[in-house]
Amino acid sequence: MPDSDLDFDFDLFTIGAGSGGVAASRRAGEYGARVAICEELRIGGTCVMRGCVPKKLLMYGASFSEHLEDATGFGWEVGEPTLDWPKLMAAKEAELDRLENIYRRLLADSKVALIEGRGRLIDAHTVEVAGKRYTAKYILIATGGWPALPQIPGIEHAITSNEALELEQLPKRLTIVGGGYIGVEFAGIFSAAGSRVTMLLRGDNVLRGFDSEIRERLAEAMRARGIEINTEVQVRSIDKRSSGALSLLLDHDEFIETDALIYATGRAPNSRDIGLEEVGVKLRSDGGVVVDERNRTAVPNIYAVGDVTHRINLTPVAINEGRAMAETLFNKNPIIMDRRNIATAVFSRPPVGTVGLTEAEAREQHESVEVYCSRFRPMKATISGREDRVVVKLVVDKPSGVVLGAHMIGDDAPEIVQGLAVAIKCGATKRDFDATVGIHPTAAEEFVTMRFPVPED
Ligand code: NDP
Repeated sequence: MPDSDLDFDFDLFTIGAGSGGVAASRRAGEYGARVAICEELRIGGTCVMRGCVPKKLLMYGASFSEHLEDATGFGWEVGEPTLDWPKLMAAKEAELDRLENIYRRLLADSKVALIEGRGRLIDAHTVEVAGKRYTAKYILIATGGWPALPQIPGIEHAITSNEALELEQLPKRLTIVGGGYIGVEFAGIFSAAGSRVTMLLRGDNVLRGFDSEIRERLAEAMRARGIEINTEVQVRSIDKRSSGALSLLLDHDEFIETDALIYATGRAPNSRDIGLEEVGVKLRSDGGVVVDERNRTAVPNIYAVGDVTHRINLTPVAINEGRAMAETLFNKNPIIMDRRNIATAVFSRPPVGTVGLTEAEAREQHESVEVYCSRFRPMKATISGREDRVVVKLVVDKPSGVVLGAHMIGDDAPEIVQGLAVAIKCGATKRDFDATVGIHPTAAEEFVTMRFPVPED
């Protein structure tokens, strides 16, 4: 092993140029560290190339059908709108190309060397990429995750979010297995684009883990948009017919036929076959890399951030973890990321925004809890005629008045909840919310005008 830092090729070698890896590498490069990053797929990783960004672009594109429907109530004559799906996909692809170039430029601007190919650990200080070996004082594992599919007969006929974001033709009938983030978001996109969407959930409702009020309202709204949601059902096997259609055998011996099948049944960390365990990095049984609060693995000079650690699998979390690591190692600014009250959104139709504890979690963790909830028809729906209800909800610790959680379903919920997350991070109380003057007319003002708690049963 080299004696001094300069005997290593790099100070930091990052495996994986997704959100976490790029953020950490750039920050380290900006502090003068000699940094390299390797990537086997497209630069930008899951979020930019196969997740958040293309998903949201397609959601914007598909949702115009809803805006056009709403417009007729306001007097617009819009005729029979049609979506040119290949045109939308091409526009999305062009945007991803543009973003990938920006990522390359940002890495170069931060003096991070980009090495294309799959990285593999040879020892605690050596990474091999495309047959070439590089040594580094520190190594960062930021390899992300990949869709996980249950092993049932015929599963090879199913696609995942990766392929769904690249479908050349819009399927007439689409079935989605799984009702988590990806399941409900893709159901929203494809139904708005014109597919007939059926969801198959093994549980009793969508978005397990979210506030029950929000889950119920979302399922209602999705059904009102023509999405069929079947609960407590499992797929036993999948068969491909000569017509190209897929036939699904369900667990109560029922068959359904579909043109495309998306499995959105969770994601698994990309932690295998890159030499981690061989050099002493510990993995949990779910494949997540074990790290401490400073993102350090069982090998002291090897760090891991983002989805490969399978903690909170969200882009901004990976970015924060990556930057905390770089600040700690290369700027003498040790940071332990605060993982409390991380806001999140689901870009369903309508979207969901949430921060802090759900009502059920709060009742479990706190002795006395008050809930404030408002359900109302948004102003736009009065004229558009859409049967939509917004729900806003605050969960409050009764003795202290501290707001423990804020939840919303309705247009702009993600934008609104981002602001509330700051207040909750600062420990805002219900009194602080009450003392805040609302902005009228908005849906957001409901968060500061709810007077009476929901009566206890
Ligand atoms: P989720 O864990 O959110 O949801 C998985 C869904 O699949 C659940 O409904 C689960 O059911 C179901 N499921 C799991 N295994 C099976 C199985 N064997 N058979 C049938 N159903 C099954 O995973 P996603 O794939 O939707 O998303 C992965 C992660 O990506 C998210 O958890 C999130 O961290 C991230 N993400 C974030 C987004 C955002 O921030 N907007 C968008 C997209 C993804 P049950 O509820 O019963 O467990």
